[in-house]
Amino acid sequence: MGDSPKVVRDTEIMSDQHPPLWLCATCGVEYSPAVTPPAQCPICEDERQYVPATGQRWTTLDKLRDTGHSVEITQVDDRLWGIQAPGVGIDQQGMLVQTDEGNLLFDVPGLVDDAAIDTVRGLGGIRHIVASHPHMYGVQSAWSAAFDDAVIWVAEADAGWLGHRPDAVRTWSLPFDLLPGIHLGQIGGHFPGSTIAHWADGAAGKGVLLAGDAIFPTPDGNVTFLRSYPNRIPLSPAVIRRMADHVQHYSFDVLFNNFGAQAGPDAAAIVARSADRYIAWTSGANDHLT
Ligand SMILES: [Zn+2]
Repeated sequence: MGDSPKVVRDTEIMSDQHPPLWLCATCGVEYSPAVTPPAQCPICEDERQYVPATGQRWTTLDKLRDTGHSVEITQVDDRLWGIQAPGVGIDQQGMLVQTDEGNLLFDVPGLVDDAAIDTVRGLGGIRHIVASHPHMYGVQSAWSAAFDDAVIWVAEADAGWLGHRPDAVRTWSLPFDLLPGIHLGQIGGHFPGSTIAHWADGAAGKGVLLAGDAIFPTPDGNVTFLRSYPNRIPLSPAVIRRMADHVQHYSFDVLFNNFGAQAGPDAAAIVARSADRYIAWTSGANDHLT
């Protein structure tokens, strides 16, 4: 991707502006540039996350880079790449999907750097950015700015969680095709606007579901669903049924969460089976076993 005009602006992005963009040191989510950081991180104060016992801390992109953090990009499958910033935020892994009509970054690390920008440019850049839910906003404004103001799609139901709302943000509420072969759906559950991306051409045409942590692979080869993962807060049987029914609309063989964990092959059947198990336990059908 030869884009010499962008180099000047990227240099600006790579160095903290004054005032700088603030990142919550715990969740890695960005907040609007300001001279001083916000008083609180609403995302961490919510019952789905946590403020560490040591208290709220803030950082910036420069501080993260100065302390040795960097972005790592690894190939996961054909036309699918994982993008991670180890030690930043909750160690989430974004997924870059390459298509002939432009690329999607689904879930966003809390860091961007020059090397990552160069690598992603070589993979075709980024046209659309989608976070599965507010914990995954990361530094989406910085990634967007580095790629020609790539559109940042935010589920309207969750837009109130945005700590920074650059002009590139567009909200959505009805499911739609983001790119040929890539469909965005609002599965809800973990957050009302929890979003999944179905990539029909993924997994050699058998289909991939990028599920954020709406649906979460477990060590026994199944998946689970929670309102809060760190605090282990469950969801109701009715919500799990709704989520499982939503997923039945898609054909997919492999499911990825926002940490690079996967379920599959035959992930659609795994989700259906896991939903039945979850519902049995949360509805009381198994209470005689406890
Ligand atoms: Zn936070």
